Amino acid sequence: MASSVQNSRISSPGYCACCRTCNMWCWKGFKWLPVSFIVSIITWSYYAYVIQLCIFTIQSTVQQWIYLVLYHILLIMFVWSYWKTIFAEIEPIPEKYKLPEAELEKMLSAESEDSQRTILENFAKDLPIVTRTMSGSIRYCNRCVLVKPDRAHHCSICARCVLKMDHHCPWVNNCVCFHNYKFFMLFLGYALLYCLFVMATCLPYFIRLWKGDFGTATSSGRYHIIFAFFVSLMFAISLGSLFGYHCYLVVNNRTTLEAFRAPMFRGGADKNGFSIGAFKNFKEVFGNSPNLWLVPVFTSLGDGCEYPVRREHQLQTFTSPQDTHGYESMGITRSSVEMARETERWRLCPRKGRTVPQIV
Ligand SMILES: [Zn+2]
Ligand SMILES: [Zn+2]
Repeated sequence: MASSVQNSRISSPGYCACCRTCNMWCWKGFKWLPVSFIVSIITWSYYAYVIQLCIFTIQSTVQQWIYLVLYHILLIMFVWSYWKTIFAEIEPIPEKYKLPEAELEKMLSAESEDSQRTILENFAKDLPIVTRTMSGSIRYCNRCVLVKPDRAHHCSICARCVLKMDHHCPWVNNCVCFHNYKFFMLFLGYALLYCLFVMATCLPYFIRLWKGDFGTATSSGRYHIIFAFFVSLMFAISLGSLFGYHCYLVVNNRTTLEAFRAPMFRGGADKNGFSIGAFKNFKEVFGNSPNLWLVPVFTSLGDGCEYPVRREHQLQTFTSPQDTHGYESMGITRSSVEMARETERWRLCPRKGRTVPQIV
């Protein structure tokens, strides 16, 4: 660990500041390419659907209005959620998790990994953290120089730690995490509905054109409608599988990262450690107000640092005897004496699967 901490010190760059700035802007521009691609597809689909299908091909005025109104409602919700996912403000990890200069110096001058571990344990003893590394140590990021809150991870693309990190998504050029997970879910859901709607309403005209009945469609219009059908079908398949998977994760209260590697609690790794029941899990992301569940405004519960955990993991952090193990029960935290005792137990029993004494 000593070497990893030392590596966090800034090394001198091998090229001039001008080249660095140029590279930085190129990289920033490159990261926006997938978003530009999606925006281009949306813009083209608007032209294909509204102009070519609704205005030039459909002849019934009533049908035109119904299609246009429904299409625009879906488009607005889809673009709104997409915008919020991309530009959600990802707040930094709170200051209390950051290692002060004095502690960092102690870490750097520590002679062994055990002493570094003890320094971290002492620093983290008043922090509300429940999970540890696979070896039972405090989860520490040597690049951000902080103790990672539960479910937080370092994103190498954003170059920082983010709360409840799910994954870094190039299609939104942002980390999907605590601050925008609801927006991401709505984006997937509305994008799927948008594709299904375009696909379903294009289908009769697609079949007609395919059979050679061109009606009032112009020659370029035919290709736009046929292409709109295929593109929406292709996106519906990929969005459907991704949305289905994320619904499964929401109901089970897991992030994508946790689905691949279960978080480590005192008694060992537990992929369901944060799961408090399907509906409560859903409300943890979408909030308590049903009126706002489908609206891309932030309503997720909690502060992103502390999460309710299953009863068997609660004793580590929370002393809630009657416990509803929900957000209501998170007010009472353990005393420092309990924390010290527990830290010692963690140290003695860090490995997965070992029997761990219970706090009395
Ligand atoms: Zn970090
Ligand atoms: Zn990221």
